[in-house]
Amino acid sequence: MLSIQKLSHVYPNGTRALDDVSLDIPPGMFGLLGPNGAGKSSLMRCLATLQVPSAGSIRFAEIDVLKTPAALRATLGYLPQDFGVYPRVTAEDMLDHLAVLKGIGGRGQRRDLVDSLLRQVNLWDVRKKAIAGFSGGMRQRFGIAQALIGNPRLVIVDEPTAGLDPEERNRFNNLLSEIGESVVVILSTHIVDDVTDLCPRMAILVAGRIVQTGTPADLIAALQGRIWQASIDKHELASARERQHVIATRLRAGRTVIRVLADTSPGVGFTPVEAGLEDVYFSTLSLHRQAGSAELKAA
Ligand code: ADP
Repeated sequence: MLSIQKLSHVYPNGTRALDDVSLDIPPGMFGLLGPNGAGKSSLMRCLATLQVPSAGSIRFAEIDVLKTPAALRATLGYLPQDFGVYPRVTAEDMLDHLAVLKGIGGRGQRRDLVDSLLRQVNLWDVRKKAIAGFSGGMRQRFGIAQALIGNPRLVIVDEPTAGLDPEERNRFNNLLSEIGESVVVILSTHIVDDVTDLCPRMAILVAGRIVQTGTPADLIAALQGRIWQASIDKHELASARERQHVIATRLRAGRTVIRVLADTSPGVGFTPVEAGLEDVYFSTLSLHRQAGSAELKAA
């Protein structure tokens, strides 16, 4: 269990990236969903001991992460948002090198480990190729291989599927879902489908605060019967926004399809629709924006 208590982080320029974040994260996949700038990477970097938060505490099982960061690092696998360096070294040699850095001793033991990781992430056939020539999906799978060196009990992946095509994303997500059940895996993303497909538990982070947490099924159930859809002309959109709580819009065959959050039918032309995790996410963001602008007006 990973336990985050009252975590805040303020950057030297005054940006409050995390504001009193508390979360208990059990083993399994946990989805941290939030828009760009919400604070996801800041939180991931604090958890990965790359940045010391301004306030709060983090415990992982028996480890006090802020007091003994080295103890956490010994059991951490981290795939940062920008893995950055794509050297002209082969995948096999690079993994071996990283295994040395993680303290994996004998040459034979390392070779077995590197072999099994390359097979696990489906890069065995290209193990003699330079990482510099890999596609985005291959790089991310390499990133997971390096994160899994040393059997970590906590694995953090920060926006891993951004920029991947649907097939690569699918492959990458399947790989993530195969990581052991006793491991805590935190997946930070702004892609709702990643969480729907993979995560039994999740939280939504907006402007540095946790604004929702639970199972996707429970969060969706809370919206059932409150999502309505209508197809309107695009010049009617502005007035619809004034009258209704529009949470999402989509163009379809030249018309604008709007989804509205309301306890009863918003009127003629609206049909009730099944709620999904996108509705949870968009309604949460939209309620938060309303609250934010009300705060600004009051100030
Ligand atoms: P996300 O990963 O959800 O996109 P970040 O954690 O990267 O969010 O950023 C959260 C907020 O903190 C943003 O307003 C961002 O501009 C700011 N921020 C991130 N890193 C720094 C930094 N090193 N110095 C100052 N502000 C930062």
